[in-house]
Amino acid sequence: MEILINGKHIQKDEHIDVLNPYDNSLVDTVPIADKNDVNYAVESANNAKKVLQEFSARKVSNLLFDAYDDLKSESKKIAKVITEETGKPISGSIFEMERSVETLKFAAEEAKRIYGETVPLDAGLGGKGFYGFTLKIPLGVVAAITPFNYPVNLAIHKIAPAIAAKNTVILKPSREAPLSALMLSEILANHFPDGVINTLTGLGEEIGDGLVSNDNVNKVSFTGSVATGLSIANNSGMKKLTLELGGNDPVIVLNDADIEKAATGVANGAYLFSGQVCMGVKRVIVEKDIKDEFIDALVKDTSKLKVGDPNDKDTDIGPLINNVAVKMVSQSVDDAVSKGAEIIVGGEYKDNFYYPTVISDVKEDMDLVVNETFGPVAPIIEVDNVEEAIRVANNTRYGLQAGVYTENIHSALKCSERIEAGSVFINKQSTFRTDNMPFGGFKYSGMGKEGLKYAVEDMCRTKLIGMNLR
Ligand code: NAP
Repeated sequence: MEILINGKHIQKDEHIDVLNPYDNSLVDTVPIADKNDVNYAVESANNAKKVLQEFSARKVSNLLFDAYDDLKSESKKIAKVITEETGKPISGSIFEMERSVETLKFAAEEAKRIYGETVPLDAGLGGKGFYGFTLKIPLGVVAAITPFNYPVNLAIHKIAPAIAAKNTVILKPSREAPLSALMLSEILANHFPDGVINTLTGLGEEIGDGLVSNDNVNKVSFTGSVATGLSIANNSGMKKLTLELGGNDPVIVLNDADIEKAATGVANGAYLFSGQVCMGVKRVIVEKDIKDEFIDALVKDTSKLKVGDPNDKDTDIGPLINNVAVKMVSQSVDDAVSKGAEIIVGGEYKDNFYYPTVISDVKEDMDLVVNETFGPVAPIIEVDNVEEAIRVANNTRYGLQAGVYTENIHSALKCSERIEAGSVFINKQSTFRTDNMPFGGFKYSGMGKEGLKYAVEDMCRTKLIGMNLR
């Protein structure tokens, strides 16, 4: 595929091969853009913002609704490409597209709801006789940098609210999975003037960094790893930042939980897209009296999963994104075993597949649970009571989401209040998101919120108008 700058498709001499993780076949190539392309994209986006900002909110909303119709009709085709470039089981890719279509609709609706407020200036010293109100105005140019795992949904969560608030966009998708995000961008770009939506593919450390450090970019909206997020925070200078970073989400299962329900939730959350999900279940914290019963139930659910061809609609577990990812997961599991953990089921790998794994007797200081393990692993950590469960849940630098299984309202509320995470779900695994909810972590899991209402707010700046009526 080609990149799109100022409405023109651009090829380059050098390319990245996009490989299918299932069989390592070539899916397509994308250009390796350079710093000149970054500058051209930034200039185009800056010119186009003047045109877009002349549009009424009604017009922007209507154009987003038009794009929504097109995205909906192309969504099966794009789902197939998500599966080819990421190895995501096709049922998951179809669901990602359904969510993305809905996300675009939320943005089209939100474009009409950007409100300022009146400000009682006369409540402050010297403000008597003044009349004040705020305007929510666009930031200008937004750089959207996205990871491989939800290539369309995470891109639309940035592009759509940016445009709803009348900003222009430069999208830099992951080199592992750029194709479906480029298809999405083409559909949106067809409905807006040249330069409103631009795309760049290539090496993150070069063009990602070039975008982030460019003074004519007004906001960076990034989703990806903590390491890259920290580099962006260091290099972005005076820009607004949204950072949606990694997770190490705990699920707590207390003695009074519905054990079958908790086991099914943990299996769904730990193995979804082979564990390559920021809000995947990464630590399962279980009270000791029910540990054995819980593990039996979890093993039963784990054994039912079908591992295989991601194009098969019945497949639950496909490959990881590449072989380096498989090695990282196996090293973390081996390290835990060498320190006393026990593999109950799984622990095997072949080619780019890592098999769903339940591992017990995990201690909270093992690398497997200190770092974000991006693979289909459910590590069980035993605790004595709810107090210890909360302490272990918070013993991490991450704080994206969390789940708690309990039938006791007091324990549910105690956990909700005290777990340090952007969202806490009761009787649901951490791996839960609707596209309108405020989504974004605490601590090293990031800053800022996505979810359309919240993302649109973050795509605006506030200007106060004061009138002296004395
Ligand atoms: P990543 O390696 O951090 O890459 C993310 C994006 O950043 C890619 O487009 C990458 O380009 C680009 N990039 C790399 N170096 C850069 C630099 N110096 N400056 C600017 N951009 C740069 O993440 P990933 O491996 O694709 O994705 C997995 C991570 O994303 C996990 O940690 C996961 O938890 C996190 N994630 C978080 C959320 C959330 O909402 N909180 C959602 C999904 C995933 P290249 O591909 O060219 O390197």
